[in-house]
Amino acid sequence: MGASEEEKQGALTSETFNSILYTPMSMECPLCTMDEILVLADHNECVTCGHEWKPEAPPEDEAPEERIVKDAHGNVLENGDIVAMIKDLKLKGTSEVLKTGTKSKPIRLRDGDHEIDCKMNGLSIALKAMYVKKVMS
Ligand SMILES: [Zn+2]
Repeated sequence: MGASEEEKQGALTSETFNSILYTPMSMECPLCTMDEILVLADHNECVTCGHEWKPEAPPEDEAPEERIVKDAHGNVLENGDIVAMIKDLKLKGTSEVLKTGTKSKPIRLRDGDHEIDCKMNGLSIALKAMYVKKVMS
């Protein structure tokens, strides 16, 4: 009985401490820091306070090289494709406006939220695929 008294007072031996760390990843709630965590399909949930959050590490099956970039009409874009603007787009930090129908030089796909690197009107620009359509490949 004496041992359980010690535990209540926080005087834990290292052995006792290890035995209560049942969560393999020693995850804790970002809100209340308790470690009783439900790991669900797309988020974690704290048993203690009900807080829900997304796990920080992305699933490993999202390999970047498998990324598929599609234009505004759902056509898959590849390196070397020619695209055209489907709407007027003002270039940030310039007075240039890319008019609807402006065609690019062969594009290069890259990571990031602007998926397309290309030249238009002699300018090197980064475009979002949602603003263009493929005109030839
Ligand atoms: Zn919590």
